[in-house]
Amino acid sequence: MKVKEEEISEVDELLAELIERVAGEIGLVIYSMGLEEEFTDEQIANELGVEINEVRKALFALYEIGLASYRRVKDDDTGWIEYFWKLNYDKEKEVLLRELTKTKRNLEEKLKEEDQSVYYLCKNGCVKVSYEEAMEYNFMCPKCGGMLEYLDNTKAVEAIKKELEHLEKLIKLIS
Ligand SMILES: [Zn+2]
Repeated sequence: MKVKEEEISEVDELLAELIERVAGEIGLVIYSMGLEEEFTDEQIANELGVEINEVRKALFALYEIGLASYRRVKDDDTGWIEYFWKLNYDKEKEVLLRELTKTKRNLEEKLKEEDQSVYYLCKNGCVKVSYEEAMEYNFMCPKCGGMLEYLDNTKAVEAIKKELEHLEKLIKLIS
């Protein structure tokens, strides 16, 4: 399969966005270091010149979504527990796919909602009500007495459909 370059960079961008969202800027910096070997949070904190707690927080966030793993080693002399971390670059696809699928499901829900509901909006913007409610009010705003007008959601539906199409393309691209 031939893949357009711009699509690849979009996948990279999505991954970066996801990492920054869950693990912050430090998480993204750490992940971008391309560390193939095991490391400790202390090493990274020294190298980046940031607090060790910040590094640990970011690494645990990466761990939560599956992009990092660790093993704990207890120092018998001091009783301290040291974490040895590893970044799971091989899980990128899996993680991204899971996130995109989640987003897709949410969008499908939203589409269903938009498709099933008919809303009426006060022309002065006071209220947004269902068709049944609008009937009860005789199509007059209960607040200002203005006309309740049918809210055309065609555009919203179209936008969601377009976004879904795009998501499906990305999911196919990554799978
Ligand atoms: Zn009104």
